[in-house]
Amino acid sequence: MTTDLNIKTSDEQARRYRAVWERIRQAAVGAGRDPTEIGLLAVSKGHPVQALDALQRLGQRDFGESYLQEALPKLDALAGRNLNWHFIGPLQANKCRDIAARFDWVHSLDRPHLAERLNRLRPQHLPPLQVCLQVKLSAEPQKSGAQPEDLALLAETVAGLPRLRLRGLMTIPQASREQSEQRAAYARLRALFNHLRSAGHDLDTLSMGMSEDLEAAILEGSTLVRVGTALFGPRPAART
Ligand SMILES: *Cc1c(COP(=O)(O)O)cnc(C)c1O
Repeated sequence: MTTDLNIKTSDEQARRYRAVWERIRQAAVGAGRDPTEIGLLAVSKGHPVQALDALQRLGQRDFGESYLQEALPKLDALAGRNLNWHFIGPLQANKCRDIAARFDWVHSLDRPHLAERLNRLRPQHLPPLQVCLQVKLSAEPQKSGAQPEDLALLAETVAGLPRLRLRGLMTIPQASREQSEQRAAYARLRALFNHLRSAGHDLDTLSMGMSEDLEAAILEGSTLVRVGTALFGPRPAART
């Protein structure tokens, strides 16, 4: 019985996985870009480890989690599978030790003192922690992220820390159904990215685009889309 259910679930997941890659491919072609420039981060928050296991068996290697306590048992269960773990949730000082020790990437760094803390706590036997700076482009009070005017200083701080490696920028725009509005927010992030590059930062990652708006993000230069719902279905838990 449970085997039947598992087969159905993973058929469904294989279908979703192919469909998301097809959206990425079509958006890239529409933007005149090479589809292989764009990576897929599977956002698995709210989903059980079985769902991650099934996706890994389909070939997915990068997984994003937002809540440390939820993530750690999944990291333990899938240890040894050669996965890349990305922390994409709000950063807090008391979470930095585990994040620095267990994750490969952090997309949500937004304050210099947290950069220093992650640098100090990154274990010596691991490669540097790969970092995207989260930028706040909307006025929504619940969203975290650095203000655009604070970005240059934050980037300088991270670039000067040996146990961190600055890779790029991330943003979570205000939700909109209008592709023109989605694109406008992502174009702002790309402009900030280009500005940091012309200031000498060696950046290669624009972490932008989610289930609803990955096409807009790819049109604006995304190199890594973060997709949850379109891959795994709706999140069972209420929190998003
Ligand atoms: C939840 C989440 C996503 C994925 O959102 P979906 O709409 O489910 O694709 C992407 N990025 C961040 C930072 C998230 O918290």
